[in-house]
Amino acid sequence: MKLVFATNNQNKINEIQGLIPETITVLSLKDIGCLEDIPETQPTIKGNAVQKATYVKENYGYNCFADDTGLEIESLNNEPGVFSARYAGEKRDANDNMNLVLKNLENKPNRNAKFKTVIALQIEDNSNTFEGICKGEITETKHGEKGFGYDPIFKPNGQNNTFAEMDLDLKNKIGHRGKAVALLVDYLNNIV
Ligand code: IMP
Repeated sequence: MKLVFATNNQNKINEIQGLIPETITVLSLKDIGCLEDIPETQPTIKGNAVQKATYVKENYGYNCFADDTGLEIESLNNEPGVFSARYAGEKRDANDNMNLVLKNLENKPNRNAKFKTVIALQIEDNSNTFEGICKGEITETKHGEKGFGYDPIFKPNGQNNTFAEMDLDLKNKIGHRGKAVALLVDYLNNIV
């Protein structure tokens, strides 16, 4: 089966590639000639994931899955949440975003946070969603060079290191996207 992963983020494709059953060929948006920005205008993480998967199915005809992720910080009223990519502005710069989080958490003792990923799957007329959550805390400063986005300031519960200091295998095992992907893979294994 051919299945489009509705993303242009090569980091995510790399993370997911090794986890999908071999009988499924994963195509990127570039592979199917979808070069435009897919609308992400919904007020929730789940809504945006569903919107992206549906867009590809409706406009390109491919079965598709799409993910959307947000970082929810307790003492910031669960912000940045659905605004995680553009928290510090439309430049969508990871460093600017992290700096703003660290600034907004100054003098706030509660640094609890969680990453939430929702994957929406659209196969023919069937829609499903799969959710993965990783709880942790925001560190005082940035640590590590691996990963992407907010990884240098997120330390999962039970770990001594941030995501950006971890090997991808460990991040996949304990991380939000890995957990959502595991549910997706279970589902796909039962239908292929
Ligand atoms: P998206 O929904 O994947 O586009 O992600 C929204 C925002 O969260 C972007 O700023 C990403 O960089 C960030 N993000 C998504 N996944 C991760 C992750 O696994 N680690 C750190 N940041 C992430």
